[in-house]
Amino acid sequence: MKGREMSKVVTRFPPSPTGHLHIGGARTALFNWLFARHHHGKFVLRIEDTDRVRSKPEYVDDILAGLKWLGLNWDEGPYFQSQRMEIYKQHIEKLLAEGKAYYCYCTPEELERKRKEAMARGEKPRYDGTCRFKNLPPKPGAVVRFKSNLVGETVVNDLIHGPIVFNNAELDDWILQRSDGTPTYNFVVVVDDATMGITHVIRGDDHINNTPKQIQLYEALGYEPPAFAHVPMILGPDKTKLSKRHGAASVLEYKEMGFLPEAMVNFLARLGWSYGDQEIFSLQELIEKFDIKRIGKSAAVFNQEKLLWLNAHYIKETPDEKLADLLVPFLEKKKYPPAPKEYVVKVVQTLKTRAKTLVEMAEMADFYFLEDIAYDPKAEKKFLVPEVRPALEEMLKAMQQMPSLNEEQLEQVFRAIQQKYGLKPRNFAQAIRVSLTGRTVSPGLFEVMTVLGKERVIKRLKAGIDRIK
Ligand code: GLU
Repeated sequence: MKGREMSKVVTRFPPSPTGHLHIGGARTALFNWLFARHHHGKFVLRIEDTDRVRSKPEYVDDILAGLKWLGLNWDEGPYFQSQRMEIYKQHIEKLLAEGKAYYCYCTPEELERKRKEAMARGEKPRYDGTCRFKNLPPKPGAVVRFKSNLVGETVVNDLIHGPIVFNNAELDDWILQRSDGTPTYNFVVVVDDATMGITHVIRGDDHINNTPKQIQLYEALGYEPPAFAHVPMILGPDKTKLSKRHGAASVLEYKEMGFLPEAMVNFLARLGWSYGDQEIFSLQELIEKFDIKRIGKSAAVFNQEKLLWLNAHYIKETPDEKLADLLVPFLEKKKYPPAPKEYVVKVVQTLKTRAKTLVEMAEMADFYFLEDIAYDPKAEKKFLVPEVRPALEEMLKAMQQMPSLNEEQLEQVFRAIQQKYGLKPRNFAQAIRVSLTGRTVSPGLFEVMTVLGKERVIKRLKAGIDRIK
């Protein structure tokens, strides 16, 4: 370890493009990225696409787009395992030549029979070593097996869990290369991590049982194993392993749902990692504070409410201009007529403390953009009543005389008229609000009026008066 501590940290994220970038994968990527950034090291992206059938280019695109959205830039790659077959072949040859691997002719049928027999005896199915010492030559359809060390122990010095001791008698001669010539995960991951100079492997703890096999292979190949950190899994709110059942499958779906990447990154960081009671971390702070020692040993629970809370926080924190740009695609999705940027900025200023997502903000903003607003029938019935008509008419007249609307003046006029007609402030305000927005909840009334502008306010107030039965 001494030499390694001096040298540069290199981490990696090696997704298999057999599905979208999901929450668990994104968290793994983030931890590796943060660790590399904290140590001024390197973060490598590698696409593990040796499963030609299940790997899909659209998943590669989804993974890259998801990482980019989160801001997890990589310093090297993406490497594709499918383009590295020559390297794997060389390593197989070396292992075979040194007697550390061997060809095995056992047929799937024989293996299946032995597997069943072992199970029937209550034993863990394990390759029985039939071909281990036969020194068989290559043959089409033969697999290549690793000559595992089956005595003694292999210790994984996990940075999160501490030393984990594996009894080598539990291992078997696992397959390096399948009968169709394709290499297996446990083999290529070692070749790649070793040849790419990976110093720290931070990954899900579902890989713990693979680690002793991989460590033995490093040793057989004469490579120094990296440090390992196995991160506890993420559970859904029902305490079962987080899956599609619990919500979005892809990180990019959260983008579509109106989450900000800052919120997502903050949220992912806290899934299993903590720093006292602190919940809110800027990216810079995460880079400064991230430390594998602060990753917990027990599973993290996915809490959607917390994600919403963080998102509301980051919406508030985002500068108005930027938020306006972020909101535009959501306004377009609602098919609102386009509006000038300055207008969207003003809209955003009134809504940024109210909306938890950009989707919600776009919904709340309908009356700012639509010419024909929808009236909530209940609100209309309750507040657009004959009692308020004279006051609304006088408010209309007063506004027609103003050169433009400003909040202070509107408020003075509102008070004067409300008092003159002896109306409850709330009833008068709600009658105006329903006329302007169609509903009973909106940003501050005078704010809304100044954003909408004189012409629209007058038109809507007239329409509101006309709707009084
Ligand atoms: N492609 C593997 C996976 O997605 C990588 C596991 C590892 O980090 O070694 O699970």
